[in-house]
Amino acid sequence: MTKEEIFAIVEEEDVGFIRLQFTDIFGTLKNIAITVSQLEDALDNKILFDGSSVKGFAPIEDSDLYLHPDLSTFCIFPWRPQQGKVARFICDIYRSDGSIFTADPRAALLNAYKAAKEAGLNIFIEAECEFFLLNTDDTGEVSRTVKEKASYFDVGPLDMSENIRRDIVLNLEEMGIQIKSSHHEIAKAQHEIDFTNQSAVVCADTIQTFRMAVKTLAKRHGLSASFMPKPFDTENGSGMHFKVSVFDNDGNNVFLEDSKLSTEASAAIAGILAHASELSLINNPLVNSYKRLKPGFDAPVYVSWSSNSNRSALIRIPTERDNQIRLEFRSPDSAANPYLCIAMLIYSILDGIENKIECDDAINQNMYADKVDNIKKLPDTLSEAIDEFEKSDFVREKLGKHIFDEYLSAKKVEWNEFNNAVTDWEIKKYLERY
Ligand code: GLU
Ligand code: MG
Ligand code: MG
Repeated sequence: MTKEEIFAIVEEEDVGFIRLQFTDIFGTLKNIAITVSQLEDALDNKILFDGSSVKGFAPIEDSDLYLHPDLSTFCIFPWRPQQGKVARFICDIYRSDGSIFTADPRAALLNAYKAAKEAGLNIFIEAECEFFLLNTDDTGEVSRTVKEKASYFDVGPLDMSENIRRDIVLNLEEMGIQIKSSHHEIAKAQHEIDFTNQSAVVCADTIQTFRMAVKTLAKRHGLSASFMPKPFDTENGSGMHFKVSVFDNDGNNVFLEDSKLSTEASAAIAGILAHASELSLINNPLVNSYKRLKPGFDAPVYVSWSSNSNRSALIRIPTERDNQIRLEFRSPDSAANPYLCIAMLIYSILDGIENKIECDDAINQNMYADKVDNIKKLPDTLSEAIDEFEKSDFVREKLGKHIFDEYLSAKKVEWNEFNNAVTDWEIKKYLERY
């Protein structure tokens, strides 16, 4: 889209406000709003914001950062007023000296994407996003009391949120985002929306837009949407699976060779497995994330891959109708920063392919039920994930020093806070007994 086209749409559609959006290191979407009177300046990349107030971004003595709107991300929020409509751009972030701001996670993903392009590879991703739609109590706080009894693929009236899902899907489609399908997930009050195949950067942008839409529209229906990875001890948590395809510059599927998994596909799988543990902190960013990665809940526990539709593996090769081959990466959860997850997934794939990393044999057995010997486990706690992350030169180099250091120190604080907290579990278990 050109500047002229943007001005024409703004006029025609009676747009009154424009949100300039970006994402912080920890995956939180942020924005500032301008009116149309400032649009010219915004499109000339002249809008500044205070980076020192965004966690992990810029020091107070060097806080001015510039927003450069990515014109291809322009869209109108269908749920906002129809007069004086609200539109948005997702922005890249620059310093006042004109250099790219290195703590912008979207910049990290753009770098990874470019590295793949230079290697002649185009990365496409179909994202599958799970989340909970929960009631609010009388005070408006989100409640863990679930009235719904629906499970996998159930229909209404058991599925009590079919109308909200419908609303989310229709709103996103109006914004130009293509939805592949949606359904009720395995846990009570859990849902999933799947997107069609998108180029890697567009996929991460879509996930951020989707999360914002889900939160906003759920609230309109009197519910509260949660992307917490594991809200209930005995139910499935929420994953964010990536179905990854890699094409060469002629559009050929790099993972396919004589209708089978290619040598590159095996090397890509090996690359992802080689870096899985040190990247847990990115894919599973919260103390709570590690409660999801336990046997029996369709989430990975071991660093293994499966050549079939085994959902207990970290990577599986889904059955495809059109005989295409791609891989499903199953460890990221609903709280992860999609820009960083996808950036590091791309670097892991490139590392595997460029360094011809040997792939271990596929394990097609149920990793929860059978005895599994000599297979490395993913980190079991945030603390273990922090240790793996901190040791990794690969992650430090690819993420860049700014993101690596800020992310690591914030996660250490988070673990320390958790470690010092007296939890409800301890109170229930010990307060009366001892
Ligand atoms: N909810 C599961 C997870 O935590 C995934 C279920 C599925 O395979 O769709 O990743
Ligand atoms: Mg699912
Ligand atoms: Mg899946």
